[in-house]
Amino acid sequence: MAYVITQACCNDASCVEVCPVNCIHPTPDEPQFATTELLYIDPETCIDCGACVDECPVDAISADNELAAEHEPYLKIAADYYERYPIGPDWPELRERRKIPAELGTLRVAIVGSGPAACYAAMELTSRPRVEVDIFDRLPTPYGLVRAGVAPDHKSTKAVGDLFRSAIGHKNTQCYFDVEVGTHISHDELLAHHHAVIYAVGAAGDRHLDVPGEELPGSHAATEFVSWYNGHPDYADRQFDLSGECAVIIGNGNVALDVARALVMDPEIFARTDMADHAVEALRNSNIREVVIVGRRGPAQAAYTNPELLALGQLRGIDVIVDPAEVELDPASRALLDDPDCEPRIALKVEQAEGFARRTPTEGNKRIVLRYLASPVEINGDGKVESITLERNELVEVDGRLEARPTGERETIETGLVLRSIGYRGTPLADLPFDERRGVIPNKEGRVVDPQTGEPLTGVYTAGWIKRGPSGVIGTNKQCSAQTVERLIDDFVAGRLATPAEDREKLATLVAERRPGFVDYSGWQRIDKQERSRGAAAGKARQKFVSVAEMLEASRLES
Ligand code: SF4
Repeated sequence: MAYVITQACCNDASCVEVCPVNCIHPTPDEPQFATTELLYIDPETCIDCGACVDECPVDAISADNELAAEHEPYLKIAADYYERYPIGPDWPELRERRKIPAELGTLRVAIVGSGPAACYAAMELTSRPRVEVDIFDRLPTPYGLVRAGVAPDHKSTKAVGDLFRSAIGHKNTQCYFDVEVGTHISHDELLAHHHAVIYAVGAAGDRHLDVPGEELPGSHAATEFVSWYNGHPDYADRQFDLSGECAVIIGNGNVALDVARALVMDPEIFARTDMADHAVEALRNSNIREVVIVGRRGPAQAAYTNPELLALGQLRGIDVIVDPAEVELDPASRALLDDPDCEPRIALKVEQAEGFARRTPTEGNKRIVLRYLASPVEINGDGKVESITLERNELVEVDGRLEARPTGERETIETGLVLRSIGYRGTPLADLPFDERRGVIPNKEGRVVDPQTGEPLTGVYTAGWIKRGPSGVIGTNKQCSAQTVERLIDDFVAGRLATPAEDREKLATLVAERRPGFVDYSGWQRIDKQERSRGAAAGKARQKFVSVAEMLEASRLES
């Protein structure tokens, strides 16, 4: 017997650290870690100890003899990985954590944001003795995209929230939720009360298509739709026109697949999840029967990951449609696949798309249509979206990379709903430098730098999407935050951080004056408990509060 990692893998590599025989790869120190879609267990080396199963925050690891039928492809996926990257004697050993000498006293750190990068940074810090952490979030609820971005039907991924409870609920952590940095407390005030501040605020903005008609009613960012169905208070009152039969999603990353599933799956499945009630009700009344997902390049370059695509093809009552002509590879993509160095995940993407192209659709099923090599050129309509015009692309090699180039061949698809899913983007923060081109805070390994001089700003750090851009999955943030914390501790140990002028009690007094009634950890626990018990009563995982006023009221209610 051996263990196998499956679809829900969050890549946070917790399992790597506990494996006694170092048979889970790629590790964060291996180059493949930067692009891998999941981690893999070498079945030849695994000794069946089960340590990784207990450690995995999202229950993604199963014994091979207990695999669910839909997870059986992961046996071959792992075998293919180790065929391509066999374990050798020169593989790097796991790194040791930087320690803080006791004579330096207590390190005090503020973290702005409470999403995955913030929580992983807090866990890294509080896993060491003599570290105090204060976490700030503008909302009364923590966890950022785990709460407002993960698809409601991805229950295992949401379980990472249980792991993050140990970050925000740690005895050395204080939570200041419903407190906005830049409004209720300034950057300078945070620095006056801490040795260092880590900004881990994510990337709240989205990229635009920049085509005519993008501003028409019926054209939205997919991120708005995701926030709406997840009950984010800033988006709960949005309206989406679901009266037509066809919706078009531009971009083919995992968010596009999440949105497509939400639009065509049986809403009663979502009614049992934590999807917001207003969204379940709207989807019950939806007429949408077909979702077209448009990617500008071919199946070998598609942005989605293989586990998500594999799961899409297993949905009941839904056909995944691919035009065989669109999976015929251009010569450059074919050469890429034929190269013995080609990563298995790329070949698998093409194999899966070819498999869909061979399928026969079932009469009466809803449809998800994967389109390749097409880009939007105009969204059309009189007062609202009525159709979208796409232009066919061909792939050309530019600086060793395959780029999409328009061919002039156009087609129009009738639709009342266009969702652009072409990536998140960071937004500038008060009192901090910002790289407009990349949408990130300029930094070197997490140390925020002056963009003019390139020199680090004393005591200012960043982690997560606002540090590196919106890439990777939840667990990718673990390594990103660990790197930032390592640099912060390097600076503390080297005496490069200023001793805070004010203490922790003064900070608590200041916040209470500026934001009386802010939500602390026990306030969040009260919200959490009520959401869970409302959910249990309604036969669902959780019934979220979707307005700040409701959340604040719940934070004060003793049950
Ligand atoms: Fe490593 Fe034990 Fe998990 Fe096998 S079961 S991958 S040996 S931790």
